[in-house]
Amino acid sequence: MYQLPEEHEELRAAVRALAEKEIAPYAAEVDEQERYPVEAARALTEAGFNAVHIPEQYSGQGADAVAACIVIEEVARVDASASLIPAVNKLGTQPILLSASEELKKLVLPSIATGEASASYALSEREAGSDTASMRTRAHLDGDHWVLNGTKCWITNAGESTWYTVMAVTDPNAEKKAHGISAFVVHKDDPGFSVGPKERKLGIKGSPTREIYFENCTIPENRIIGEPGTGLKTALATLDHTRPTIGAQALGIAQGALDAAVEYVKERKQFGQSISQFQGVQFMLADMAMKIEAARHLVYTSAAATERGDARATFLASAAKAYASDVAMEVTTDAVQLFGGAGYTRDFPVERMMRDAKITQIYEGTNQIQRMVMARQLLKK
Ligand SMILES: Cc1cc2nc3c(=O)[nH]c(=O)nc-3n(C[C@H](O)[C@H](O)[C@H](O)COP(=O)(O)OP(=O)(O)OC[C@H]3O[C@@H](n4cnc5c(N)ncnc54)[C@H](O)[C@@H]3O)c2cc1C
Repeated sequence: MYQLPEEHEELRAAVRALAEKEIAPYAAEVDEQERYPVEAARALTEAGFNAVHIPEQYSGQGADAVAACIVIEEVARVDASASLIPAVNKLGTQPILLSASEELKKLVLPSIATGEASASYALSEREAGSDTASMRTRAHLDGDHWVLNGTKCWITNAGESTWYTVMAVTDPNAEKKAHGISAFVVHKDDPGFSVGPKERKLGIKGSPTREIYFENCTIPENRIIGEPGTGLKTALATLDHTRPTIGAQALGIAQGALDAAVEYVKERKQFGQSISQFQGVQFMLADMAMKIEAARHLVYTSAAATERGDARATFLASAAKAYASDVAMEVTTDAVQLFGGAGYTRDFPVERMMRDAKITQIYEGTNQIQRMVMARQLLKK
């Protein structure tokens, strides 16, 4: 009754073992040097955990949405930057899975499943963040090619990725802006495509975030995802599938911070005894663990709802992302508190975890936007 199947727990054990052995030892160095976690990329690809969500007919593992969340959660428990490898592979390919032609699926998905390639998702622009429909990047058909012009910003893993799912305006005169946007797949070697310098960030420093530029970028006609004018619909439907994965990332960061705090309070002595003996400390630990447990249920429930195509999937995806990320921020802040002065230094991982947690409240829609989505779902009944 009401528990994960054995195969999911076995998956968790396998990913945890891999993460602790192959990813955790490099997490502090990756953060300090602001470099791509190449060791994690290699280990995840060799073990087949780089993009578990890709169906078997495209050479993937065919894992369900809960399994994909477990992979991301367990990697994030030791290194949030590295967890963006499976997370952004899902984000970048979900529009293709939802709406692309069979031909386009066959072109892109197998290369990502095998780890030869990876994907990014390009929706945001400098002046179109929460208000995505006001984007300015344009695409027009020229003979049998689409020509893209514009700049996308904040693109996770840009420069590392091979494929980019890009939303652009194809009908600037559409009655509703949202109906004039289409989605495309761009390859890093397509003419007219380039990437900018890395953003200098608070956290997830191992995951490059860059602008990407389209200067008369020319791609074959069949690289459009679905019909013209359906791109924003696909982009937003994608978020129903991927907001649970950001919840999973947040959950993993929070669990990592709690685990580190529990270890530390048992060792640290003040007033002649272990600080774990103080009720004030115990209450903090209990609250942290309680919130994490609640977030875990919401994340898996939302992932399962998207898998089933449940009518509540949109509400649950926003709820899971907002709740788990707020929990991650609270728990990591409390973990730093429990370490005292040591927590404020880079000698312990909780400082990095607190910085990494913050982004989960911002990307894939800020938590204010998640609350708008949830309220809209409630009020439309
Ligand atoms: C590290 C990082 C990685 C990212 N990765 C990607 C990526 O891979 N692909 C991609 O497309 N994008 C990505 N993003 C972009 C991210 O999704 C946006 O930053 C986010 O959606 C917010 O948009 P904005 O930054 O323009 O903020 P704004 O929209 O300017 O928001 C500023 C503030 O106003 C609030 N606000 C805005 N509108 C409302 C409203 N109607 N009601 C209440 N409050 C509101 C927001 O909640 C926020 O607090 C990334 C961002 C970062 C920082």
